[in-house]
Amino acid sequence: MGKGFARWVFAGVSLGALGLAALAAAGATTDSKGLDVAGMDRAVKPGDDFYAYANGGWMQSTPMPADRPAIGAFSAIEEEVTQRTADLIREAGRSGAARDSEARKVGDFFNAFMDEKAIEARGLTPVKEELDAVAAIQDRRALAHLLGSQLRADVDALNNTEFHTDRLFGLWVSPDFAHPDRNVGYLLQGGLGMPDRDNYRNSDARDQELQAKYRAHIARVLELAGMTGAAARAGRIYDLERAIADAHVSRTDSEDVHKANNPWKLSEFAARAPGLDWVAFFGAAGLGREPMIMVWQSSAVTGIAALAGSRPLEDWRDYLAFHAVDRAAPLLPKALADEHFQFYGTALTGATEPRARWKRAVVAANAALPDAVGKLYVGRYFPPRAKEQAQEMVRNLIIAFGQRIDRLAWMSPATRAKARAKLDTLYVGIGYPEHWNDYSGLAVDGDALGNLRRSELFSYRQSVGRLGKAVDKSQWWMAPQTVNAVNLPLQNALNFPAAILNPPFFAMDAPPELNYGAIGAVIGHEISHSFDDQGCQFDAQGRLFNWWTPEDLQHFNAAAARLAAEYDGYEPLPGLHVNGKLTLSENIADVAGLSAAYDAYRVAYGGKPAPDAQGFTGDQRFFLSFGQAWRTKMRPELQRMQLMTDGHAPGQYRADTVRNIDAWYDAFRVEPGQKLYLAPAARVRVW
Ligand SMILES: [Zn+2]
Repeated sequence: MGKGFARWVFAGVSLGALGLAALAAAGATTDSKGLDVAGMDRAVKPGDDFYAYANGGWMQSTPMPADRPAIGAFSAIEEEVTQRTADLIREAGRSGAARDSEARKVGDFFNAFMDEKAIEARGLTPVKEELDAVAAIQDRRALAHLLGSQLRADVDALNNTEFHTDRLFGLWVSPDFAHPDRNVGYLLQGGLGMPDRDNYRNSDARDQELQAKYRAHIARVLELAGMTGAAARAGRIYDLERAIADAHVSRTDSEDVHKANNPWKLSEFAARAPGLDWVAFFGAAGLGREPMIMVWQSSAVTGIAALAGSRPLEDWRDYLAFHAVDRAAPLLPKALADEHFQFYGTALTGATEPRARWKRAVVAANAALPDAVGKLYVGRYFPPRAKEQAQEMVRNLIIAFGQRIDRLAWMSPATRAKARAKLDTLYVGIGYPEHWNDYSGLAVDGDALGNLRRSELFSYRQSVGRLGKAVDKSQWWMAPQTVNAVNLPLQNALNFPAAILNPPFFAMDAPPELNYGAIGAVIGHEISHSFDDQGCQFDAQGRLFNWWTPEDLQHFNAAAARLAAEYDGYEPLPGLHVNGKLTLSENIADVAGLSAAYDAYRVAYGGKPAPDAQGFTGDQRFFLSFGQAWRTKMRPELQRMQLMTDGHAPGQYRADTVRNIDAWYDAFRVEPGQKLYLAPAARVRVW
């Protein structure tokens, strides 16, 4: 379902960020409180191609930077936020703060990441301990112990929807489906270097090419790590991964929560998933005393455990040695870092240059010390007045959404009452968390890779520490400096980080039609996730429990089927269509969010018409603000990958959501026969 509003990061390659120079060259507006009129293409009829009408000028004049697989409104904000964050971190590093202070840790983490000389001088020393541990594996028990010790909290099935980890399994600690007042551990499939099982299983020319490149990448990493017989080992490692891929369940099945509701007692693992020594695995993972673990993809866990019992230990040692080096490569000597980028950057996403090192250092510091960096960010860039204005928008959106629920003819009165209860208890976090995370237990020094590994372990132990404890409904799942937003179904909560509350999504004191068209639609999008085909499966307390009647669901599914067909019709690359089913939840959220944002913008003007400005009516500006928030350029390599794995449709089609909204037809005088025209009965209305 992809609960995050947009997906922008993969394998350490941030997909965001348009250089500020490029932004200026693109003629983007410097007036953060107005539309980018120069970025439009007024030769196009809005009813034929609304995305091009709103963004054609920008598409024409904006080059794709060499270090980017994609650019857009998100990346423009991300670029600015990254610059601000880097400046704050550098200041913290220079501040002479006490060694164990947070500011000092942030500064030291960044400086160690930047110190390429020290990284070069250390050579492979930072991975030696792990490689020695791998080489020492002589039996299945030792294998299981090592695999367990490598488990990290690096996946997230429902909030940020990160289903990928190159470790054999991933752990997600979150409220229990059945008892949402307490936390439980969810075990997810992992173990693949490439993003998805289909990357290994598909047989068209492009995938075969990628498979060959991945084999070559494995061999090259082994060579650079000084291992003999690299080609033969690479073949066996690839074959093992291919077998793991065959055990994986599909991305679509991974998103079905009902297939994920598998509470296994720890004592049951040996019988349900034989092959892996689970006692050794859970013991090493610090989970040996848990009464049970939720197994998200049970057939995959069974299949992977069988491989742990059947494949030669030699294959496992090679596989683990390769991943130890490959995972560490961005912080190892240049030859390995370059090889890592060649595959994960260029081959997978099409980027031809890595991002500047200082930007990668910011991304890493954000991941390692999210709240410490976030505290610095909001202290300077998110004043209380911005928070108040955003909260006011949320209040209006909730009012608009509530009125839509009250008016819903298709929903039974009992279900409507439950929807109301859920809306009334929704926690909406704006800007930053109520409580900051405490990093006093995390040691940071001059070893860049050591810092990263310790921070991953620190975060894992914090997650494990929440097991069995009461759930904090106001816990945040996104750092304040993240340009995104997220719905947390098991907490009945939303997070809108400070960083997305920037132009073109939001500007303090900007006219309501612009703020509501952009961030308002984002807020509406996230609210609607609480009430969609996924949201209906979690009640006001966050319990996995379908609170809809069969008739409610039937109506919803009928509307959803039409929307899926609408998106199936889009063809971003020759022969490659948008997957209407994979992107359905997100597309419904876009329709619902835009509808509610439109109502809320009218409320903000007290029912009076919005004034004309920049040569457009208030309604036109509302829709154009929405369309411009979706401007995106993406390299075909990344586009292919996103079409396969991303729950969100490409930005261009998200902008075209407008064709389902009646007011858009009036605003732009859209006529039958125009390409985006839908007859009133064909427009999809869910809420
Ligand atoms: Zn979403």
